Amino acid sequence: VIEIKDLHKAYGALEVLKGVSISAPKGHVISLIGSSGSGKSTLLRCCNLLEDSQQGEIIFKGEPVSWKGEGHHRRPADPAQVLRIRTNLSMVFQQFNLWAHMSILQNVMEAPLTVLRRDRDEVEQAARAYLDKVGIGDKCDVYPAQLSGGQQQRAAIARGLCMEPEALLFDEPTSALDPELEQEVVKVIKDLAAEGRTMIIVTHDMKLAADVSDHVVFLHQGVIEEQGPPETLFGAPKSERLRGFLSATH
Ligand code: ATP
Ligand code: MG
Repeated sequence: VIEIKDLHKAYGALEVLKGVSISAPKGHVISLIGSSGSGKSTLLRCCNLLEDSQQGEIIFKGEPVSWKGEGHHRRPADPAQVLRIRTNLSMVFQQFNLWAHMSILQNVMEAPLTVLRRDRDEVEQAARAYLDKVGIGDKCDVYPAQLSGGQQQRAAIARGLCMEPEALLFDEPTSALDPELEQEVVKVIKDLAAEGRTMIIVTHDMKLAADVSDHVVFLHQGVIEEQGPPETLFGAPKSERLRGFLSATH
């Protein structure tokens, strides 16, 4: 669904991604791991064009992003293409980012209604079904502040699903949660993996990465240091840095 080739990204003089290539084929789950500052969130945000990049290709469903300008002036050339990519890659953030002034149901319905201009009754039906699916179908009419962190994150996932995206991008979806609440969210992510959703997951949770991923990518200072299936990456890591990282996270 999404493919990144030799991506370079800098904030001013700070090079954050130094030629990174990843690919998330349909139905696959890719996990991005690495220490703080290694560029995981930046890479995820480049995938859906929330961040600019200076060099390299981003290919969505076989369609390369078309650019205008070069280097620090490079920008996507086609707003319709940007919208198509954004609306097809739903992002779930560490801090949920629900709209505080809207009920849970309104949160889930908002983007399909305003961005995709879908029919209100159909959207409401879908929103209720997705909230049921993540186990909070009874919370439609309450506001985010009235929910636990785990419930808020599940609402955010339902909101992502309601866009009927091609893939879901998660940035540390469980990092803000207490361990008990974390498990509710992990279960939802596992269910989504089991039903064949395409996902890219940035996570500090090595157990989650090991359980759900088809492919794990270890980033170090903006470079892929090692990648492979979870069995190999966690079971027989080759790089000294990855071994150090894994022993520090246990
Ligand atoms: P963490 O595990 O802490 O979330 P990360 O791997 O997601 O880390 P990024 O957030 O991608 O790391 O940041 C990579 C580097 O880019 C860091 O050095 C960070 O300080 C820098 N950076 C990130 N966002 C910006 C920004 N908007 N402006 C300038 N520098 C930034
Ligand atoms: Mg991050």
